[in-house]
Amino acid sequence: MGAMDRRGFLDTCAKGCMAAGIAPMLSRVPDVPPMAMGAVGNVSNVPARYFKPLENQEIKCLLCPRHCQIRPGERGLCGVRENVDGVYVTKVYGKPAAIHGDPMEKGPFFHFLPATKTLALGTAGCNLTCMYCQSWQFAQRRPEQTDNESLPPDELVAQVRKYGLRSITFTYSEPMVAVEYLADTAKAAHAAGIKMAMHTSASCNPGPLKDICGLMDAVNIDLKSYSRSFYDDVVGCKIDTILENTKLVAGSDVWLELTFLAVPGYNTDPAVFKLMCQWIAITLGDQVPLHISRFFPAYRLRNVPATSTDTLKDLRKIAYDTGLRYVYLGNMAGDPSESTYCPKCGMMVVRRVGYEVSNTGLDLRSGKCTKCGMKIPGQWT
Ligand code: SF4
Repeated sequence: MGAMDRRGFLDTCAKGCMAAGIAPMLSRVPDVPPMAMGAVGNVSNVPARYFKPLENQEIKCLLCPRHCQIRPGERGLCGVRENVDGVYVTKVYGKPAAIHGDPMEKGPFFHFLPATKTLALGTAGCNLTCMYCQSWQFAQRRPEQTDNESLPPDELVAQVRKYGLRSITFTYSEPMVAVEYLADTAKAAHAAGIKMAMHTSASCNPGPLKDICGLMDAVNIDLKSYSRSFYDDVVGCKIDTILENTKLVAGSDVWLELTFLAVPGYNTDPAVFKLMCQWIAITLGDQVPLHISRFFPAYRLRNVPATSTDTLKDLRKIAYDTGLRYVYLGNMAGDPSESTYCPKCGMMVVRRVGYEVSNTGLDLRSGKCTKCGMKIPGQWT
């Protein structure tokens, strides 16, 4: 179904749904053909931001708490920011290593522009070293090791308009290490009336994050655990950074959702998970959606089995018992836990089966449950 067809489809749905008193949402999202072919070694040399020049042409990066001190000819740990004879450059500006037309639900974003497709992309590189990285093929590689397309911000936006999409999402790897590309794309997108989203670990410094928050419409943050040692030993950063940055985003105008990837035996201790849920409810609010996602063996944890259905359901129950109102299970296509239920009357207001989404009881204009009038938070249209 093409973009124009979708409009017609929605119009048709609108007539039927209006008769039933429910505004339309449902659709299968349109296909987006592959973009231009990428090439290994296709990297940029665009001036980077967030750094401090030091003596002897050294550079201190101020983008994330690692504060890499980089000598000429070297890069920081993320592998995408280089000191070229005293000039700090990014190697991934306009060079996505992965780009797809994804359902917004894949983000995952369940309360933001549902049943639409987003242009989702990610570059090589990450400033974390998660042992269980689910996208290690480019997140844990340098851009010289990945196939990169050439899509500067204006061309990216042109593609989005061409296919009638409503948003761009930086995801797959860590968007903040490509902050220059992210920021310039967001400015170009907003100038064209296109929404911006990102999925991040929030493992950056607060200054750059504040700047980016001012350019985003929706952010999904990975909360990987509530354990200090898990962040130290398995992820490679400090939990305090993540919690403070998550508070920062929650206090901004950006729509926030959270993702917890449940790695069996590593971060699935019920007591620790309960502490994390309590922190979310008290600090961020019980209305923030939490996606509990299934782990699959990858990268350095290939010997760990996929998360069992029982574990995921147990964690979801803990989250609900703690008071969170919107808790979803990810990578569980067809499970009732994918759908949204009104916390007041219990009616299913949005039904999801994989990436098929239908409106079963939500007034899209007001965002209210059509049965009891409870406001369901989100940006629904
Ligand atoms: S963003 Fe990269 S180069 Fe900068 S401090 Fe972090 S890991 Fe180092």
